[in-house]
Amino acid sequence: MNNYKLLTPGPLTTTATVKQEMLKDRCTWDDDYKSVTQTIRKQLLELAQVTETDYATVLMQGSGSFVVESVLTTAVGEEDKVLIITNGAYGERIVEMAKVLKLQHAVYSVPYNEPPSPLEVKVLLENDATITHVAIVHCETTTGILNPIHEIGSVVKGLDKTFIVDAMSSFGGVPMDLKALGIDYLISSANKCIQGVPGFGFVIAKIKELEKCKEQARSVALDLYNQWEVMKLDGKWRFTSPTHVVAAFAKALEELVEEGGIRARYERYANNNRILRTQLQALGFNAYISEGLQSPIITTFLFPYEGFSFDHFYNAMKKAGFVIYPGKLTDVDTFRIGNIGDIHEDDMKSLCKVIENYMVVIKK
Ligand SMILES: *Cc1c(COP(=O)(O)O)cnc(C)c1O
Repeated sequence: MNNYKLLTPGPLTTTATVKQEMLKDRCTWDDDYKSVTQTIRKQLLELAQVTETDYATVLMQGSGSFVVESVLTTAVGEEDKVLIITNGAYGERIVEMAKVLKLQHAVYSVPYNEPPSPLEVKVLLENDATITHVAIVHCETTTGILNPIHEIGSVVKGLDKTFIVDAMSSFGGVPMDLKALGIDYLISSANKCIQGVPGFGFVIAKIKELEKCKEQARSVALDLYNQWEVMKLDGKWRFTSPTHVVAAFAKALEELVEEGGIRARYERYANNNRILRTQLQALGFNAYISEGLQSPIITTFLFPYEGFSFDHFYNAMKKAGFVIYPGKLTDVDTFRIGNIGDIHEDDMKSLCKVIENYMVVIKK
C-alpha cells in the first residue's frame, strides 16, 4: 500500500481520523444518520456566514461537476439566459454543460492568466437585458488563479441578476461572506478544502432563489429543488446517500472547527503556498500566475528548462512520497502542485528539499 501525500486539487490527503469514520455502516433512514446530515447542513451555513432564515444547504450525490450541473439545470429556466465567465477548464466545463442542457447562454472569456474585468461584465450585462444569471469559477483550479468574485458580485447584484459561483476548490480554505459577496448559489464538494473524501457536493443557496425553481430542472436525479424539498424536512436524501462519505465529512467539519475555522485553515494554506512559491522560484521554477492573483490552493509552474521531463520528475517525487499533478494548459508546458488537504509547513519544506536535490542530480 502506498502512503504518499497528495499534492493535488482533490481528492486530497485526509487525516486518519476522517478515514476512520468510514469503518462503520450506517442506515439512511435512521434518525441518527439524518441528524448527521442536518448538522452538516447547518455547519456549512455557518461557514458561509449566513443563516437558515434566508439560505439553505442542499447536499447532492456525485462529484463536484454533478453539483454544478444540478445548479445549472435547476436554476436557469427556459426563459433565462446565463452569462458564463471563463478563464480556465472549469469555466469551460460550465459552457459545455450549458450547451448540452440547451440553456440560453453567453460567454465572456479571458486568457487563463488574467482575471475577468468587472467593468467588462457590467458592459455585457447592460448590453444584453435578457441575461438573468451570471456564473463564474472562484479559484480556477486549472491555473490556480483566484477570480475577483467580490467586485464581479457587486456588478451582478447591482443589476439584480442571479449569481452562481463555483467555489469548489476555495470554499473552506478562503474566508467568504456569502451575503456580502452577493452569491445566490455557491457550489463546492466534500473532497476539497473541507478535507473530506469524494462522493458528494453541496450547494449553499438563497431560499428566495430556490423557491423559483420548482419543476424547472431537465433532470430527475440532478433536480436541486426536489433534493432540497425532501432534505429540508428531516435530513433524508432522495435516493441512496453516500453514508460513509457523509460520516467522514461530518468529522472533517469538526476538525476544521478544531483547527480554528476557515481563517486558520486559510493561513495554513497561504503559508504552504508561500513556501512553495518562494522556494521553487529560487530553484528556477517560475509560477504561471503572478503573485497578486495567485490562490493559496494550487500553483501552476512552467517547466524550468528546455527538455525537462515531467514524467521523470513526477516519478522521482512519487518515490519520495509526493504525488504532484500534470498541467492543463495547451500553449505552455506546465505542471501543478496543490497545497491543500492535511498538508503542513513541514511537508512543503521536505518537498522543496526533494526538488532541490532532484535539480542538483539532474544538472550533473
Ligand atoms: C474540482 C473542481 C470541480 C469539480 O470537479 P469534479 O472532478 O467533478 O469533482 C469543479 N470546479 C472546480 C473549480 C474544481 O476545482
